[in-house]
Amino acid sequence: MVLHTPREALRAVELTDPSPRPEQALLRVLACGICRTDLHLRDGELDPGHLPLVLGHQIVGEVLIPDAAGAHPVGARVGVPWLGWTCGACRYCRSERENLCERARFTGKDIDGGYAELAVADARFCFPLPSESDYPDLQVAPLLCGGLIGYRALRMTGDAERLGLYGFGSAAHMICQVAVHEGRDVYAFTRPDDSRSQAFARELGAAWAGGSDDAPPEPLDAAIVFAPAGPLVPTALRALAPGGTVVCAGIHMSDIPSFPYADLWQERSIRSVANLTRADGTAFLALAPQVPVRTTVTTYELAQAEQALSDLRAGAFEGAAVLTLP
Ligand SMILES: [Zn+2]
Ligand SMILES: [Zn+2]
Repeated sequence: MVLHTPREALRAVELTDPSPRPEQALLRVLACGICRTDLHLRDGELDPGHLPLVLGHQIVGEVLIPDAAGAHPVGARVGVPWLGWTCGACRYCRSERENLCERARFTGKDIDGGYAELAVADARFCFPLPSESDYPDLQVAPLLCGGLIGYRALRMTGDAERLGLYGFGSAAHMICQVAVHEGRDVYAFTRPDDSRSQAFARELGAAWAGGSDDAPPEPLDAAIVFAPAGPLVPTALRALAPGGTVVCAGIHMSDIPSFPYADLWQERSIRSVANLTRADGTAFLALAPQVPVRTTVTTYELAQAEQALSDLRAGAFEGAAVLTLP
C-alpha cells in the first residue's frame, strides 16, 4: 500500500521485491502497527523522505535472507522500529543520543516501511522480540513505536508520582500500564465527553479519567502530551504542581498558544521527546512482558490501510491498529 501523493489515499501497487544491501535483512512482513506519524505523512503534515513511499515503522517480520554479518538468523522473528539507520559518527551518535543523529534515516519515511508483504531493514536496528506465547505478532507490533517512544517519554518524567496522560491512544494505553506497574497514579485526559476512552483508561488502571478541559483532582508532577494538539500544552502546564514537567511525545503538533509566564514559573518545564535510541527499545522490550503490557488491537487487512488511517484520524477505535498480512 503506497503513498504516491500526500493528502491522497494510499493505493495497492505491485512493487519489485526489495533486494537487501549487505547490512540489511530481507523480511517477510507478518504484521505492521499503524502510528499517528503515518497519518501525519499521509495528511501532508510531515514531509516524506521520498515518493512514492511505503509507510509503516512498527514491523513484525520473519527473516528470509539474513544480513551479511548474520545478526538475526533465517526464520527469526524481529521488530523494526522508526529509527532505521544512524551515522555512528556525529556528536549525537558518539554521546549515546543516536535518536538525535544528524543523518538519521527513519523507517516508513526515508526507508520504505511495513505496509507491504516484504521489507528490508538494517539488521543492527532490528530488535529480537519477546516470546510469541507472550506476544503474538498482532499484540507485539504496537510496542515498537507507541510502546517504546512512549517509554522514552515516561522516563523523561523522572519519578513523578502523579502522572497525566493527554490523549489516550496507542502509546498512552501501554504507558498507563507501565506507570501503574511502577506505582504511579495515572490521570488520563481524553477528548471532552469521550466517556468510552475514559472507561478504557480506568480499566487499564488509571486513578482518574476525564476530559482534557477538566482539571485533575490533584496537581500533577508530570504530564505527557500524546495528542497532536498544541493548546493541550498550556492546559497541561496549568495542571502541574511546582517543579513539574510537560513532555510532548509526538513528532508533529499544531501551534502552541501563548500563555502567561506565571504558568511556567516555579521551575515547571516543557520539553519534547524525539525518536528512540536502540537502548530505549531493548529496555522497553525487556520490561513489557514483566508488567505485563497488554495491547488492545484492532486489525485491518493490508488492503484496508487507508481505512485504518481514517479510523485513527476519527478516533474510531481504542488502543492500537495493526495491519495483518495474508
Ligand atoms: Zn510511530
Ligand atoms: Zn549520527
